[in-house]
Amino acid sequence: MRAVVYHGVNDLRVETVPVPRIGARELLVKVAVCGVCPTDIKKIQYGTVPPPRIFGHETAGTIVKIGAGGASVPASRLLSRFKIGDRVALHHHVPCLDCHFCRHRAFAQCETYKRTGITAGFQPAGGGYAEYVRVMPFVLPGVVKIPARNSFEEGAMLEPVNTVLKAVRRLSLLRGDVVLVAGQGPIGLMFTRLLQLAGAQVIATDLLEPRLKLARKFGAKWMFNVGQASRLSLNQEQYKKSKDGDRRDACPTLTSELIRRATGGRGLDAAVIAVPSDAAVQQALQLVRNGGQILLFAHTKRSAPSSLSAAGGGEGRGEVVQNSTPTLNFPLDLASICLDEKDLLGSYSSDFTLQDEVARLVFSRQLDVRNLISHFFPLEQTAAAVRLASQPTADSLKVLVCADGS
Ligand SMILES: [Zn+2]
Ligand SMILES: [Zn+2]
Repeated sequence: MRAVVYHGVNDLRVETVPVPRIGARELLVKVAVCGVCPTDIKKIQYGTVPPPRIFGHETAGTIVKIGAGGASVPASRLLSRFKIGDRVALHHHVPCLDCHFCRHRAFAQCETYKRTGITAGFQPAGGGYAEYVRVMPFVLPGVVKIPARNSFEEGAMLEPVNTVLKAVRRLSLLRGDVVLVAGQGPIGLMFTRLLQLAGAQVIATDLLEPRLKLARKFGAKWMFNVGQASRLSLNQEQYKKSKDGDRRDACPTLTSELIRRATGGRGLDAAVIAVPSDAAVQQALQLVRNGGQILLFAHTKRSAPSSLSAAGGGEGRGEVVQNSTPTLNFPLDLASICLDEKDLLGSYSSDFTLQDEVARLVFSRQLDVRNLISHFFPLEQTAAAVRLASQPTADSLKVLVCADGS
């Protein structure tokens, strides 16, 4: 079969590899589509894992072979849900639901979860950029049937939607709360819609105008182009006339004026940072009200060793300077966390227990992911798909790779 094999930094090659052999209680799935995900892009562009591997984990396709039952009753029961020809969406990580981390709902930290259960060959890495993948028994609970009226593309979006719903659930919001979503790429737009469905009023920001237009469609109440401050509906003159316009503003930007308006001067209830920008975090810390929350979703790249430093000033005083502590790229007054009770949160990866709810949201089209998909590339052009997804253009959103040539 054809597969896109990763051989090192930015080195993806279309090669012929054996169709994966499946064992007992395993599935062989013919891949239809696979989403290009930022976490794979990061591995490809920074070489964070050793080659060779076949990436791609937002996979949907058709079951073409089912491994013979075997003795394990739970696994056989799971397997009996499926038949050859079923159209399915896959999850390459599934937690054990039983360990210390799982009992604390920190599923992404579970050892079982960290194992990758889908492969097209080599060290398991998702395998979606190939014609066939092998689905191992421990990720069978993550196989979701795609309803007849829904497409493979919609199935492939379950995994990213899950990661976003998990993050939304980390926020403690009341109906009517005002939430900033910084960045309206595919992930930011999912946040905008899921937050709106949760009753929040969303302020959407981005640099690209087409994305802001889409943000309105996805339920944003206010859109703000952070690159073109002049486009803000509330202008400086209007603001000066407003009752608190003469107050001194700690953050004299148009964004802060809009937020002051939207929240009656209180500040944001929460801010979701869906762009890997430290400046956005710094600004959010100022814009969020006391007791509010800032959720980081795109800060997935660890600082390079060169940016690690002894910022604590511990040298010469006999203190051990933790070399693994990266320096912040902006001054952070920790009193904003302690005294002002602003929570700095992160969320990463998916929550298995939300899987049914995510499937309902996507397949009912309450969250219509079809509007998030802008480009399809054939398997042979996976490298170009990765390039486009890593350097979005005004008209690009979610990029998918189609293994079946359709
Ligand atoms: Zn993903
Ligand atoms: Zn676990």
